[in-house]
Amino acid sequence: MTQTTIEKVRKRAEADAKTFGYYLTPDADLLQGLLEGLKINEERYGYPSCPCRLAANVFEYDRDIICPCDYRDPDVAEFGACYCRLYVSKEVYEGKTELPTVPERRPLAKQAKAFTPAVPPREEKQLTAEKEEMVEIMPKIWYCKQCGYMVFREEPPYICPICKAKKELFAEIKTRIDIRG
Ligand code: SF4
Repeated sequence: MTQTTIEKVRKRAEADAKTFGYYLTPDADLLQGLLEGLKINEERYGYPSCPCRLAANVFEYDRDIICPCDYRDPDVAEFGACYCRLYVSKEVYEGKTELPTVPERRPLAKQAKAFTPAVPPREEKQLTAEKEEMVEIMPKIWYCKQCGYMVFREEPPYICPICKAKKELFAEIKTRIDIRG
């Protein structure tokens, strides 16, 4: 497991913002939450996947959402901030423009990979043996009780990308999907 620190993550983000002429969000709480999310994801997956998105835990699938993601530059250019609002434009940083709400630009097909990750060989064998049996998978859906934002993830996001509510304000919606092999 990769070990990192918030300070390391912060320095990396600051250096990257400087290189590209961006700024880190002026919202201190949001910044802290996002840096913590990046640190946790880096330790969990071995790469700092976006703290506002569900990762598939397969590098090839997650490549486009490793921070800074492929969508940051067009989002900052169009909206003044990236999807998570970690990176912002000068205008947003200086308060001339409000911290915006940024719509998801990542294609749905790529998002879907996170819900159907590669099945490890051992489990695949097991699934074949149980071909006629019902398999239950239970993706978790979380919703923000403050603004209604919904997201598929193993755990609630650290910060709501829409209203900035903390993860404690997320509640799980129970789902059940049955698949017959
Ligand atoms: S949306 Fe922002 S925080 Fe998330 S991966 Fe992209 S650049 Fe990083």
